[in-house]
Amino acid sequence: MSHTAQYDVIILGAGASGLYCAMHAAERGLRVAVLDHADKPGRKIRVSGGGKCNFTNLEVSPANYICANPHFVKSALARHTQWDVISFFADHGVTYAEREHGQLFTLKGAGHLAGILVDRCNKLGVDMLLGRTIESVDGPGPFRVNTGGEIFKTPALVVALGGPSWPQVGATDLGFRLARQFGLDVVRPRPGLVSLVFPRDERAMCESLAGNALPATVECNGARFTDPLLFTHKGVSGPAVLQASSYWREGDPLFIDFLPGQRMAELVEDNRTSTMHLRTLLAQVLPKRLPPAILSEGLAETEVSQLSKQQIEVASNRVHRFRVTPASTEGYAKAEVTVGGIDTARISSKTFECMDVPGLHVIGEALDVTGHLGGYNLHWAFASAAACAQELTPPAEN
Ligand SMILES: Cc1cc2nc3c(=O)[nH]c(=O)nc-3n(C[C@H](O)[C@H](O)[C@H](O)COP(=O)(O)OP(=O)(O)OC[C@H]3O[C@@H](n4cnc5c(N)ncnc54)[C@H](O)[C@@H]3O)c2cc1C
Repeated sequence: MSHTAQYDVIILGAGASGLYCAMHAAERGLRVAVLDHADKPGRKIRVSGGGKCNFTNLEVSPANYICANPHFVKSALARHTQWDVISFFADHGVTYAEREHGQLFTLKGAGHLAGILVDRCNKLGVDMLLGRTIESVDGPGPFRVNTGGEIFKTPALVVALGGPSWPQVGATDLGFRLARQFGLDVVRPRPGLVSLVFPRDERAMCESLAGNALPATVECNGARFTDPLLFTHKGVSGPAVLQASSYWREGDPLFIDFLPGQRMAELVEDNRTSTMHLRTLLAQVLPKRLPPAILSEGLAETEVSQLSKQQIEVASNRVHRFRVTPASTEGYAKAEVTVGGIDTARISSKTFECMDVPGLHVIGEALDVTGHLGGYNLHWAFASAAACAQELTPPAEN
């Protein structure tokens, strides 16, 4: 016979959003369980920010998020701000340092931050149902989560299952499958914050430049990011590329300015009488191997004093508006996030409850909400979790 247990709230997923939601719901007197197939909670938090966890940002605004409905994030971000996140973790002993673009990284490491959430849940009496395989979920009225031999019942189910990126730490697409089961649409998921792979005929360039980093502006589908770009053996990576990758779809071109904030034409004008080859002049401001890789041999080897107006224009275009159509991304295995996800159209931005399935909630990365690089994804996990927990009905009001 199956063992059965009943909770006020069951949260599927013991990640950033699930733990934060559990903690806030338990603080409000709700009897909460968090269920996960992993043996250890918060595995993705533990690998975040290169182990240093960029847990929020000094500047958070709806413009930092990609969502089919750009208004969807506004309510939760306003109700649980970066200052709420910072003060919660600071009160629990997290020390942090600010890096570029207002990014806040922990000093004691991502494991320490994850541990705080787990400890807080344990202290508040949250049942951690770890190492459980979710075999089926039925409902509502109540929801029944079947883990094979055990059935957990609840009037309020929170899907906090994240997205399938970084499967090495147990990420799956179960959240999307459950959403479809309950009649919700899923905006086509794809890897985001991920390195891009160049087509085969452009790979030689990457091979010769692999390991070189430089500041660049990368533009994709109207979104532009100026940050370091890194050449890999197969394509490009680095913050500017990771940011742009979240806007990239198959077949879309990428435009790269390898000399942001400077004008190549001015550099040429300033050296108009020089007998230097163009490649040598450009090597003063770009990695040495880049000019010959992006310019034709004839152009790269032309003396600056001999360059025609048209040649300057061609070179300038290659330096400031280098166009490439990536063949692919490096896939979910290397992607920090999943772009797309459970459509927000039928989810309340206030309660995170599904409008058509009473009691079913979705929070965190499982939703069609993707933050830019910079602590915005964990911030969204926390903000959506806190907003949802605030609206869960305590038992007396059931
Ligand atoms: C390498 C890496 C570095 C990152 N660095 C940063 C950073 O520095 N700053 C930042 O803001 N964001 C960062 N992110 C993104 C951020 O970690 C996620 O957006 C965030 O953790 C999402 O929280 P979540 O609760 O929605 O999902 P998750 O934290 O992924 O939690 C989902 C939970 O669901 C469980 N689960 C999944 N499938 C199943 C299943 N089938 N059965 C049972 N349980 C299941 C998982 O085990 C997991 O515990 C990084 C991501 C990666 C991969």
